[in-house]
Amino acid sequence: AFVGQTTDAATGTASIIVNSEGQNVIVIVPGANLLLNFEDLKRASDVICKAKVVVCQLEITPAVSLEALKMARASGVKTLFNPAPALADLDPQFYTYSDIFCCNETEAEILTGIPVGNLEDAEKVGRMLLERGCKLVIVTLGAEGCMMISGDKPIPKHVPAGKVRAVDTTGAGDSFVGALAFYLAYYPKLSMEEMIRKSNCVASVSVQAAGTQSSYPYRKDLPQDLF
Ligand code: ADP
Repeated sequence: AFVGQTTDAATGTASIIVNSEGQNVIVIVPGANLLLNFEDLKRASDVICKAKVVVCQLEITPAVSLEALKMARASGVKTLFNPAPALADLDPQFYTYSDIFCCNETEAEILTGIPVGNLEDAEKVGRMLLERGCKLVIVTLGAEGCMMISGDKPIPKHVPAGKVRAVDTTGAGDSFVGALAFYLAYYPKLSMEEMIRKSNCVASVSVQAAGTQSSYPYRKDLPQDLF
């Protein structure tokens, strides 16, 4: 209902290069994405404030994303933030307005200066990000699944992903975040660890075919306990 067209800028694009191991490099040209503004947000405020969960990332102007998180928080809506594409000088308010802060290894390194090469590094960056004010941090680790650390119980928990043959990992993080938002909204009684295990599973399906929207042909093969 709130999607519009503009003649003031080109459509945002992302050119994606994938190697033979399924790893990708993305060149982002935001274009019209950067025109989304506070007025647009105000128009959608009713929907934002009545949502079960609001997901934000950095493909629109960061100040607008931050304002959306603030609107959601003010109405008691759960906030899930994915700092992608990463910004070294991220406004610290993004941490305090995120119930769940979910980043990948590259984003974690840009935000903390610590390269994430193993589970110990992931624990370390998870703790650092938690101290900045979010309630729960998830660091996704590609084929290794992810590390979660929560303010309630600051013992990091590694949640592994299943072993699959990755063809194209483009969009795996988006798939993970989308799945997590789905479980938060529709299965709020599941434990966070269970939601993350299921989100790993959805994301690991997404890497098994080329493209970012390729889970559909696999739908029949999805383990039934995902739903
Ligand atoms: P991004 O796409 O942002 O770089 P990741 O590469 O960390 O994010 O992947 C996000 C999630 O996708 C992982 O936490 C995992 O659940 C799943 N995933 C990614 N790569 C693989 C893989 N090779 N095998 C299984 N699952 C994967």
